Amino acid sequence: MLQYSLGIIFAAIIAFAAYRAHSLSRSGAWGAFLEGAIIFGLGGWRWAVLLLAFFISSSALTRLFAKRKAALDEKFDKGGQRDIGQVLANGGIASIFVGLHFFFPAASWTWVGFAASLAAVNADTWATELGVLNPTLPRLITSGKPVERGTSGGISLYGTAAATSGAALISLLAILVIPPTFSLFTSPALLFFILTLSGLFGSLFDSFLGATVQTIYHCPHCDKETEKHPVHTCGTQTVQVRGWKWLNNDLVNLGCAVMGAVFGVLL
Ligand SMILES: [Zn+2]
Repeated sequence: MLQYSLGIIFAAIIAFAAYRAHSLSRSGAWGAFLEGAIIFGLGGWRWAVLLLAFFISSSALTRLFAKRKAALDEKFDKGGQRDIGQVLANGGIASIFVGLHFFFPAASWTWVGFAASLAAVNADTWATELGVLNPTLPRLITSGKPVERGTSGGISLYGTAAATSGAALISLLAILVIPPTFSLFTSPALLFFILTLSGLFGSLFDSFLGATVQTIYHCPHCDKETEKHPVHTCGTQTVQVRGWKWLNNDLVNLGCAVMGAVFGVLL
């Protein structure tokens, strides 16, 4: 009861602080509160450390590169403030694994799935934020053709290095604060490697969906591809040009988290 009460209080404080700092929209703050209460409350501080590492590092990177990205931002679906769709897409799978841990307290795969899904979304966020610094244009993950910066499905050396680092940070914490009740069948070094690889794999899957089936729009006024719908930043209505209509950016991020977790648990 004490852990659950503390979890709710900490989650409320952090969600409110992030809302005040404009890292989260109002709906995003409610989503973060829900996830934080589940992860802090049901899991405890060890699980919360990984969530916080993702949340703090990704918000900090978004803030750090806000200016540089300003010119590109219209290409992305949403700005710096994360709303509930983004928050649930990023942390929803991790929350489910904490719920599974509650029902299977001795199973170490819940920790692996939890950490791998956060490694994947952290990898994806770091790649998105730092990939724009790549000196040359990104290339489409499917065809290898150079594409405009910020294009869904474009990958680069910097972006991939950032993805690996983002995944490695979560993986390092995951082996440092692993709950002592889990008897691991493997060495910490191997678990670190598995989690980092899963995170990188999840983020590459995200790029693959972005290059193939994610729904992409076009603004007839600016003649630009965009993830924004129904209206572009200029106020003009956007038209769908490719991808599956229902597969928006949030669902692609959810796919990234799912693939990271599935890959990690299987490995
Ligand atoms: Zn426009």
